[in-house]
Amino acid sequence: MAELTGLDLGTHLKIIINEFKSNNSIYGYPEKKFFTGFDGIDFSVDFHHKKAATPLGPASGPHTQLAQNIVLSFLHGGRIMELKTVQILDQLDIPRPCIDARNVCYNVEWSQELRLEESYHEYVVAWILLKIIEEMELLGKPKGDAFYNTVFDVSAGYDLKGITSPRVDKWLRDMRDAREKIAELLAGLPEEFRQFKNLQIDPHIADTLTLSTFHGCPRDEIESIVQHLMSEHGFHVIVKMNPTLLGYDFVRKTLNDDLGYENIALDPEAFKHDLQFDEAVAMMQRLQKFGAKHGRRLGAKFTNTLVVKNNEKIFTDDVQYLSGPPLHVLSMHSMHRFRQAMGDDFHISFSAGIAKHNFADAVSCDMKPVTVCTDLLKTGGYSRLFDYLSRLKNAMEQSESTVLEQFVGNAAQAMKRTDAIVRGLIENPIYHFNKNKKPPKKIDSHLELFDCLSCDKCLTVCPNAANFSYEMEPQEIEVFNYCFEENTFIPVPAGSMKIEKNTQIANLADFCNECGDCDTYCPEYGGPFVQKPRFFFTRELYDEFKGSNGFYFSAENEMIGRIGSHDYKISRDEKSGHYTFQSEKCVFVFDAKNDLVSVADYEKLDNGEDVNMQDFHQMRLIFDGMRQSQNHFGANVVVT
Ligand code: SF4
Ligand code: SF4
Repeated sequence: MAELTGLDLGTHLKIIINEFKSNNSIYGYPEKKFFTGFDGIDFSVDFHHKKAATPLGPASGPHTQLAQNIVLSFLHGGRIMELKTVQILDQLDIPRPCIDARNVCYNVEWSQELRLEESYHEYVVAWILLKIIEEMELLGKPKGDAFYNTVFDVSAGYDLKGITSPRVDKWLRDMRDAREKIAELLAGLPEEFRQFKNLQIDPHIADTLTLSTFHGCPRDEIESIVQHLMSEHGFHVIVKMNPTLLGYDFVRKTLNDDLGYENIALDPEAFKHDLQFDEAVAMMQRLQKFGAKHGRRLGAKFTNTLVVKNNEKIFTDDVQYLSGPPLHVLSMHSMHRFRQAMGDDFHISFSAGIAKHNFADAVSCDMKPVTVCTDLLKTGGYSRLFDYLSRLKNAMEQSESTVLEQFVGNAAQAMKRTDAIVRGLIENPIYHFNKNKKPPKKIDSHLELFDCLSCDKCLTVCPNAANFSYEMEPQEIEVFNYCFEENTFIPVPAGSMKIEKNTQIANLADFCNECGDCDTYCPEYGGPFVQKPRFFFTRELYDEFKGSNGFYFSAENEMIGRIGSHDYKISRDEKSGHYTFQSEKCVFVFDAKNDLVSVADYEKLDNGEDVNMQDFHQMRLIFDGMRQSQNHFGANVVVT
């Protein structure tokens, strides 16, 4: 498996600008679903003391791991970005696959897969990219407009020892003031982007933090972490609550009996060890006073995922973490009960089973941000966010509100509304097992290197935009192998290779953590990230991951590749149009019609040995296809 690797700022800019100009898309997402605001509608919210242009954002998770994820969320209307949780253990060995989004969604992935320094790089790069998008007025909005107001909310975990460790401590301070890193990244921009080198960018990337603690983390430790974050770092803090807060009996009855998820088995032990409801309320009341003394604000996030037994065996761990529609019901109940205890103006942020049908309701309950993860793992990916805002606009219009604050009303009104919404959840069939048990459809077909249904689902379900499409001319190639005999190469007919589709799929290995989501949604078997050509950004990474097939463009007209256990190189002479194909045993030169021109360096071949040319034709098709697709996001990245 390749390591998740981010890009440098200059390459991101090149992608954004080139692809937008040539294809009206960014990271493969077409402009038509980019959020550009709705005339006369103001979605803005106060998040602690900062303004955000919408209450929507990606939840801390797979959609906030790399810089392009955050940019894609922004382009589709996200304005409060819950960055993926960082922690001191930053060299995790996460089982793969780690996401099972066939229906309700389970996962076994947790904190950032990148090292702390790499996460910092990704978040600062994303921060700068958003400012440059604003500076260029790429979305047609004048710079300085409230439309661009975006908040980055840090997420950190998981215990006091880790959070107070020197590396995490430095990381948190750097996020509070990133001026050195911003200056370094801007100074390193290539000359073609010199106009941005002196761009004024607010170095205070984040001063709000959502705290995630281990299941079973003792109450006094949670309290000490919050105090530390407020007093030592000056963060406004949101404490992420677990759905176990509702108690085993309520959760079991709601899930198994009321909503019909008989297949979900809970672990009663997990409920005993997690924070108990009364304990949580008392702790938060104390912390509220502590925060007030230090001029910091406190909030609670509902909720973390729910730990359940792994009885589906997609993952190897004993437990898995539930999200999606059933979690929505549980989290709304726990949020409401908690706010009733804390007071109706207590700050709540929310993420659990949010989708277009319940986003406006969640916002109307005065929760901010309302963030999404599971729904973005489905077909459409980030572009699904557009409908959330569109439906929020409709709901506001129906209530004759043009300003979100007016739509939500005062705390007491929001509380009354929440009460009605929560009461209706268990009855709503949309959250029931019957509505959420069907996996995505599969057809009786296995993916191959070329051609497929061309449904494009794998492009958008990937949180990291690791899959992309490229062009290829439909064609049928007559394949000849060569038999080496007496110093001559005798052509031997070996069937044909047919390309039927003019759009092909490929994968950026550096962006792919093999989470498995594109395999879940691809109608064919085999997994696009496994079966389709995989490209590496750098020679070092290509060499490092020797165990898997892969390709790397070493120059604009030269590509190296590994197919099976064989290493190859292909290049094209632009003058003659000839292709040079180098294998481990010889070097062939072919003309544009695949006719053999010459062979060299064949000393290693044995007399009578057959040279299989299938790999040459695959390499050539990929090489040509990528070179002619440089307005496609992935090809733009890898063809230097
Ligand atoms: S390409 Fe597929 S497996 Fe890889 S990160 Fe994206 S969705 Fe996950
Ligand atoms: S690889 Fe699968 S998901 Fe991707 S376009 Fe082809 S059929 Fe669709």
